[in-house]
Amino acid sequence: MSKKFLIVGAGFYGATCARELTDAGHQCMVIDKREHIGGNCFTRYVEEADCHEHHYGAHIFHTNSQRIWDYVNRFASFNHYVNRVKVSHRENIYSFPINLFTLYQVFGVKTPQEAVACLEEKKERIEEPKNMEEWCLANVGREIYEIFIEGYSTKQWAKHPRELPASIIKRVPMRLNFDDNYFNDRFQGIPIGGYTSIFEKMLHGIPLELKVDFLQDRDALLGKFDHVIFTGPIDSFFDYSLGHLEYRSLRFDHQLISCPDYQGNAVFNHTDSEVPFTRTYEHKHFDMKYTADQTAVTFEYPQDWKPGKIEIYPVNTEENQNLYDQYRELTKAIPTVSFGGRLGQYRYYDMHQVIGSALEKVRTLV
Ligand code: FAD
Repeated sequence: MSKKFLIVGAGFYGATCARELTDAGHQCMVIDKREHIGGNCFTRYVEEADCHEHHYGAHIFHTNSQRIWDYVNRFASFNHYVNRVKVSHRENIYSFPINLFTLYQVFGVKTPQEAVACLEEKKERIEEPKNMEEWCLANVGREIYEIFIEGYSTKQWAKHPRELPASIIKRVPMRLNFDDNYFNDRFQGIPIGGYTSIFEKMLHGIPLELKVDFLQDRDALLGKFDHVIFTGPIDSFFDYSLGHLEYRSLRFDHQLISCPDYQGNAVFNHTDSEVPFTRTYEHKHFDMKYTADQTAVTFEYPQDWKPGKIEIYPVNTEENQNLYDQYRELTKAIPTVSFGGRLGQYRYYDMHQVIGSALEKVRTLV
């Protein structure tokens, strides 16, 4: 039997649910409080630079799953962009993530064997590393820690790595060969024509209203639909009755610069603590299209989060996890509302994970 679904949020979670439920014969309506679709994956075409600006930070699609890759390729063709980051520290530029070329730049080692021996010598003896700093010192030694981790992480989290868990840094790969591809996944690329056109195709034929905040009209909307899929912050749905979940936020300074190529690479990490931004990205390198005399560059500044600012990174402390679990308990009393996506599940999700999670959800709903 056909049901009426309201989907709150036109990011990847909401768009995937809307597409799949519609194709399964249900009636869907999508609303988003922003003035555009795509959530944090929204891209804006910058005519002067002839490229798509990643409006909420650099987004590289990558996945190991053939299923997810086939799914997203229904809505876009991808170029062959591979994320190879560069690090700017003091007067030097390094290859990143850390690979044999980085170790050559820092220590002069030229083979995997030399690299292993060198790192063994650099590692500090710390039996049970208790935080990010200790984990780095125990695994890669002080030089690597100071060049790549200390300043960057302090800026990113507004906390010294001594106060941060090691889990954050374990996400970043380190290789003892010359592979400088940031991701290990089989599939990777940037959608030709930008991310926004993916969402236009996913939402094709589905009623959509922008600049509508679900929370302003919650009770009336809940009464009009059989089921609501909410992809906003889970605590906002409950009016923060148990308290606010914490996030770290970012500020993006988008600039049009009068030169054809500003930094010669899509992404630079700036690891000096004195440089206030953490990353710069030059968008034409994502599109791999070098036709314009001007270029679009974004400077990314970490900032504290407070209500009203964009929620970017969940802060994975035990307190926040406990609070999230308490909100999950509240959801049990409202089975006609599902919570999903990075805000609904208070989890750092990559795009392919969000799509996968939405596909699973739809399977339980139809
Ligand atoms: P969102 O995209 O946040 O969508 C949620 C939507 O809900 C928003 O549009 C919001 O406006 C709307 N909403 C919220 N509350 C309400 C309300 N009350 N009423 C109406 N609408 C509401 N992933 C990768 O795979 N590769 C990358 O390289 C990558 N880089 C990233 C870089 C940065 C800086 C960030 C922040 C994320 C990055 N990600 C990356 C992760 C990616 O952005 C997320 O996986 C994806 O955007 C999550 O989709 P979502 O639908 O869950 O959430």
